[in-house]
Amino acid sequence: MPPAPPAPCPGCGALFPPSDGPTHRYIGASAGCWALFAPRSVGEAPDPALLAASRVPEAPSAARPAPFPPAPALATLVADAYAAQHHGDDSPPAVQSVAVHLLVLHGVARRGVAPARAQWVRTRALRTRGVFAKLAPPPVGAALTLRHLYPGGGVTTPAAPADYAASVLAAWEGAHAATLRAWYDRHVVAD
Ligand SMILES: [Zn+2]
Repeated sequence: MPPAPPAPCPGCGALFPPSDGPTHRYIGASAGCWALFAPRSVGEAPDPALLAASRVPEAPSAARPAPFPPAPALATLVADAYAAQHHGDDSPPAVQSVAVHLLVLHGVARRGVAPARAQWVRTRALRTRGVFAKLAPPPVGAALTLRHLYPGGGVTTPAAPADYAASVLAAWEGAHAATLRAWYDRHVVAD
């Protein structure tokens, strides 16, 4: 039997071989996509076989990533971008996760928070539970994916980590820029 064709990750649209490997409890990534992220999050190189068997969404069948303003300060915030992009379901942990990770990206990219102080934004945003609402996610394909950081699989020039994070933030800002500003003022800045 030929191997099953790659399937799109519900969060980012990148295509990975079907897998019954582990996934995150509320970050909405396919097992294949999570297998690309999890080693990276602990500083390890991705599995070459996984890279060889996976690819980015194909245009024009998938929406192309929209243009985005570069935000070099986001280079160390790939995990925040990944968590925001893989928004998951409507459960309170998923809703809160998306909000907090977007506020971290917003704080560093738009409010001048130093990347080294990103944890301050996370802590502030988590002071009161249950204050964030579900945001309708941008369409799958509207942003770069983690797979765009690695060559092959439709990627000629790998994207910079900062560009991946900037692309994810910009995709969410498409419909929610005002909400992110308001949430940041109310739940991160204000006392
Ligand atoms: Zn994904």
